Amino acid sequence: MSATVTVTAADVKFDTQVPLVIVGAGAAGLCAALAAKEAGIDAVLVERDDVPSGSTALSAGLIPAAGTRFQRGKGIADSPELFAADIQRKAGGQADASVVAAVSAGAAPLVEWLCDRYGLPFEVIDNFNYPGHSVMRMHGLPSRTGRELIDRLRNAAEASDVVILTKSAAQHLFADSAGRVRGVEVVRRDDTRERIGCEALILACNGFGGNPALVRRYIPDMAAALYFGHPGNRGDAVIWGEALGARLSHLGAYQGHGSVATPHNILITWAVIMEGGIQVNRDGRRFCDETRGYSEHAAEVLRQPGEFAWAVFDARIAAVARQFDDFRKAEGAGAILTAATIADLAKAMRVPAENLAAEWNDAENLKHGNGADRFGRRFRADQTCRPPLHAVKVTGALFHTQGGLGIDGKGRVLRRDGSGFPNLFAAGGAAAGVSGPTAAGYLSGNGLLTATVLGRLTGQTAAEQILS
Ligand SMILES: Cc1cc2nc3c(=O)[nH]c(=O)nc-3n(C[C@H](O)[C@H](O)[C@H](O)COP(=O)(O)OP(=O)(O)OC[C@H]3O[C@@H](n4cnc5c(N)ncnc54)[C@H](O)[C@@H]3O)c2cc1C
Repeated sequence: MSATVTVTAADVKFDTQVPLVIVGAGAAGLCAALAAKEAGIDAVLVERDDVPSGSTALSAGLIPAAGTRFQRGKGIADSPELFAADIQRKAGGQADASVVAAVSAGAAPLVEWLCDRYGLPFEVIDNFNYPGHSVMRMHGLPSRTGRELIDRLRNAAEASDVVILTKSAAQHLFADSAGRVRGVEVVRRDDTRERIGCEALILACNGFGGNPALVRRYIPDMAAALYFGHPGNRGDAVIWGEALGARLSHLGAYQGHGSVATPHNILITWAVIMEGGIQVNRDGRRFCDETRGYSEHAAEVLRQPGEFAWAVFDARIAAVARQFDDFRKAEGAGAILTAATIADLAKAMRVPAENLAAEWNDAENLKHGNGADRFGRRFRADQTCRPPLHAVKVTGALFHTQGGLGIDGKGRVLRRDGSGFPNLFAAGGAAAGVSGPTAAGYLSGNGLLTATVLGRLTGQTAAEQILS
């Protein structure tokens, strides 16, 4: 059933009244609830699934943050200003400046808060860098999985006595004629309904990747692509926002990924490319500069014959990639081919051996001279490859949408005229992100950055407002 809004007079009756409702118990919703609790406000989290997971659980759980003590411990000099400049460079200068300032400044305190207060053992990844980041600033948990991140956040919420109503979908939103949200109607798995009145509402229910009609309308290029995110992200925030007269921004933007093992459907880390691997199509030909970014690369792969590509790399790169659980799973599933020579690898991949050899040798020669190829990709001498060699067949996928509700630098949802709704906030994929209007604007980590930092910020802001 789809999300709806009723704009009512003040006479709607609620079964219960709470200070704060948060829709969605992904990273955004859980961070919001923890922050609100610390500020003295008990939130009720409404989550459709049996156990919180969301796209957060499907991710690698990596959060970019600038100026953390984890970076300083490894001698990495960084600052929120450098981070903000990297975000805007990737977004073509089209990300909202106030939101960029908020997330780039809030990320290091967020990572240290989750570590110090809730025991999440973050470390900075320092053995490869993601495209577009001037320095190494991706922070991950030991398993490098989003499952670990969401489970640890849920444990923290449970230990803090945060109420999570699972198997409960927020379906209907009540607001008065001034745009003040009065409450939500929640539908339980057994079809019972409950109306929960609230003083503030945070939408943390991610974007519309799981709603094919909205993807067709706003991102037609990816309408036929594999959707690799959480199916429960059905665009409810956008549907409610549109009905309320909210500003909707950058709805064509998304995070794609050009490296999902097929037919196994397992994410192959972009470290494979950033450490010196290449991609070729079924003709054994390279087709672009792979290092611009994995998001825009999804559509490049889908434009190739058969809508797939092969990533080709060596054992050193595989060792770096093996820190990711997904890569180990791909190995276990038999997705990674191995051969002693490029000719044998071509045979296993069933691509023309002379084409693959020409592309491979060209890239290796460029590495020796620190040169650039015909697409403008720069190669580095420290990334030369040696047998045994590996290949994995990959396709492009839609991971999550980046457009959403327009917000200010505190996560307050904006009306079409730019004024703020009195008590409505959005965080994570429910809000417009910091990637500008296209897939190419997605800097690695923008997803969890806006989920966690804006989650925390909206929880704090909503709590302060309720208490004032
Ligand atoms: C494979 C993959 C890898 C990724 N890797 C990374 C990475 O390493 N780093 C990074 O920064 N980003 C990554 N991302 C993106 C990142 O996962 C998301 O941007 C982030 O998890 C969004 O968090 P969220 O809390 O907004 O949404 P989610 O985690 O998706 O949570 C939203 C929750 O809302 C619930 N919900 C939706 N509608 C309703 C409703 N009406 N009522 C009740 N509940 C509802 C859903 O069930 C879900 O649990 C990746 C994404 C994918 C798919």
